[in-house]
Amino acid sequence: MNEYYFSEEHELFRQGLRQFYAKEVIPNIDEWEKAGEIPKYIWKKMGEMGYLGLNHPEKYGGSNVDFFYTVVFQEETLRVNSGGFGAAVGITPYMAGAHILASGSNYLKDKYLPKSISGEWIGALAISEPNAGSDVANIRTVAKREGEHYVINGSKTFITNGVLSDYIVAAVKTNPEAGAGGMSLIVIDRDTPGVSATKLNKLGWHASDTGEISFVDVRVPAEHLIGKEGHGFYYIMGRFQLERLMMAIGGASAAEFALEHALQYMSERQAFGKRINQFQALRHRIADMSAEIYRAKYFNYHLAKMHQDGKPVVKEASMAKLLSTELADQAIYKCLQFFGGYGFIEDYKIARMFRDSRIGTIGGGSSEIMREIIAKMVIDEVKYQKV
Ligand SMILES: Cc1cc2nc3c(=O)[nH]c(=O)nc-3n(C[C@H](O)[C@H](O)[C@H](O)COP(=O)(O)OP(=O)(O)OC[C@H]3O[C@@H](n4cnc5c(N)ncnc54)[C@H](O)[C@@H]3O)c2cc1C
Repeated sequence: MNEYYFSEEHELFRQGLRQFYAKEVIPNIDEWEKAGEIPKYIWKKMGEMGYLGLNHPEKYGGSNVDFFYTVVFQEETLRVNSGGFGAAVGITPYMAGAHILASGSNYLKDKYLPKSISGEWIGALAISEPNAGSDVANIRTVAKREGEHYVINGSKTFITNGVLSDYIVAAVKTNPEAGAGGMSLIVIDRDTPGVSATKLNKLGWHASDTGEISFVDVRVPAEHLIGKEGHGFYYIMGRFQLERLMMAIGGASAAEFALEHALQYMSERQAFGKRINQFQALRHRIADMSAEIYRAKYFNYHLAKMHQDGKPVVKEASMAKLLSTELADQAIYKCLQFFGGYGFIEDYKIARMFRDSRIGTIGGGSSEIMREIIAKMVIDEVKYQKV
């Protein structure tokens, strides 16, 4: 079945990435989870290998390969078993840099993309605020135009790479009275006076730095505006299709990895004189989970193909994100049960999987918001255009 979507080249890429992670990341991941961040050198190593520019043109140092390389990247990154690592390394190419690539000026592309792709610079995408997460249009950070600069005041929270990043693609209100139409995207260099960040303590995703960022009278050149003033909300909504598809692919991969891991354990663990994978009650649960993971995975591949072909998949990507992240959360919860008491012990991989999967149904648009979007499209026949 995989050969419907993946060529031999994709599979060679998968093997290379898996070897890279086995050598450079997996042996260090426990340490990085404890440290609460991943070291900057790993971005550079990934950049050297070309892993951070799969979706970027060659003129900026990318390889501009088809979307199934990104699918492989996302699947293998989830198998490192650190949601925090996956989030940290995915933000620059697929969220912060992706906005600059899609809507930024040549000046912004030349300034930020080559160093993002080489791993020298780390990006963050700052939309959420203490008073506005799901309700994106309600953000309060203001960027006031003063001559050739914008002066930015406000705060952001829950921002992945918030402390470590070199630049922040931030959602700001350039016209606070105009609602969603008054929102813009702007690139803020992390070392600009008035920018400060503190790290948050989290339930999971320990290896990623999640920050609260404050902007006090931050002066940013007007040429750092991405695209047109007042178009920020539409750029954000437009990029959500990719982000949600990526989260769906990640969710299905995390569920599959957890199941493989549980099956290995169940083939070794004995109770009542037999291996626990021989108990019918557990076998049926495995059968259900396998079928659900298979269904989610191939739905995601189908959407990946549509996305690659330039088709709008706003409704479908919302469905996929809803189904796959809910599935990951439930499947990993059930897998942990197969480990008995060992599932509750930190030294066992499944404990981290359990913590890390919980954010899937909250971040990048919660399950409730996905249901709202789907309901609007299915019931009210609202049509969202691809930006
Ligand atoms: C680890 C982590 C990393 C993150 N990384 C980033 C990042 O890099 N950049 C960024 O900008 N943000 C990031 N976020 C923020 C994330 O996107 C938000 O937490 C998420 O969008 C939800 O917003 P909120 O937390 O404000 O919850 P709220 O919007 O306050 O929602 C609270 C609850 O109400 C529900 N709800 C809200 N509106 C509705 C509705 N209309 N109908 C039904 N239910 C509703 C929600 O589903 C949720 O269950 C991150 C968050 C975490 C925890």
